[in-house]
Amino acid sequence: MFEDTTQKMLKFIEESPSCYHVVENLRKELKANKFTELQEREVWKLKRGEKYFVTRNGSSIISFKIPKAEFSGFYLIASHSDSPSFKIKENAEITEGNAYVKLNVEKYGGMLMAPWFDRPLSVAGRVMVKQKDGTIAMKLVNVNRDLLMMPSLAIHMNRDANNGYSYNAQTDMLPVLGDAAAKGQLAKIIAKAAGVREKEILGSDLFLYNRDRASVWGAFGEYISSARLDDLECCFGSFSGFLPAENETYVILHCVFDNEEVGSGTKQGAASTFLKDTLERINDGLGRSRQEYHTALAQSFMISADNAHAVHPNHADKADPVNRPQMNKGIVIKYNANQKYTTDAVSEAAFRSICDDAKVPYQMFTNRSDIAGGSTLGNISNTQVAVNTVDIGLAQLAMHSPYETAGSRDPQYLAQCAEAFYHANIRLSGV
Ligand code: ZN
Repeated sequence: MFEDTTQKMLKFIEESPSCYHVVENLRKELKANKFTELQEREVWKLKRGEKYFVTRNGSSIISFKIPKAEFSGFYLIASHSDSPSFKIKENAEITEGNAYVKLNVEKYGGMLMAPWFDRPLSVAGRVMVKQKDGTIAMKLVNVNRDLLMMPSLAIHMNRDANNGYSYNAQTDMLPVLGDAAAKGQLAKIIAKAAGVREKEILGSDLFLYNRDRASVWGAFGEYISSARLDDLECCFGSFSGFLPAENETYVILHCVFDNEEVGSGTKQGAASTFLKDTLERINDGLGRSRQEYHTALAQSFMISADNAHAVHPNHADKADPVNRPQMNKGIVIKYNANQKYTTDAVSEAAFRSICDDAKVPYQMFTNRSDIAGGSTLGNISNTQVAVNTVDIGLAQLAMHSPYETAGSRDPQYLAQCAEAFYHANIRLSGV
């Protein structure tokens, strides 16, 4: 059972080399499941008992199901579509001597840099093209072959390579496209992959991605390694629970936001109005009042789902002395006194109650008190739409490497947990 979910997830990740592909693949799946696509620029005519989705920027997506009868609130799970990578700059080709053409790239997000070396890489993202009728349209790009490499400098030429070498993004991390004859080829390769003519391209958002195939490994096949497990593991796991779920009292929503890796502060990020606008339009589109909107928010609940750190096999001292998540031990609930994670006693209790009822295992994560740790979607989203929120994730190693490791059983746990949450009726008293 869990193997099936894991294999489907790894396929989804492989077919989603950029945030735009994540959204397009979810879109296809939603269409196949008879969801109606809404456009933000049009008036929404919503019906009770129907299911819909809306995208923003082609890189964030919110899908939802409206109950047949009057609803009490919103149940949401949010994850993110982006992963740390290198973005290709404008006029990217640089000729090195008369020997190589390499690409000028810059960092997107806070990645581990060393694992990007000596792997087959390629390019994915989107281009904007001017069509014959004058409209400017988005085309996805995936150069679906091994195209680029960032070769390490040999140990003989850098004797400090194993002594904590610090990588410079402008000088160390430029991938090679080909020999000198490759000059001018990038635009041609991109145009071909997009199915357009080179001169039709007016703009682009193109990122590098790791071409290494996903792997299931370990003595019992207990681990998986793949690119972009953070956060496509949570995106896929929550979506698997969302598709079959029904709730007669709550609007249930599946949200995937772009730009979490760069702080979420974009028009389509978790700090944007995208979620707020969508919830308001659901409320207004069903002829409900402002009062009813606010009573709905007061009864809503959000799960912010973003991967968590498993205790490291060679650096166990980096974990909290007590709360030490392990892969394949279920959902990780994240806590932080300074509210980088939103979990508090209220949301913890509601979430644990759901997991207990669904018999899904869970465990706790806190940073060591002397390590700052990261942040995620929940608290940022709460500045726009304030609802009870719990921060969770699945345990993984090597977060922000282009090849991360997680537990092969955990995607199924998240799918089960998500479905149970979407079916739930959380009743809080006195808060
Ligand atoms: Zn993440």
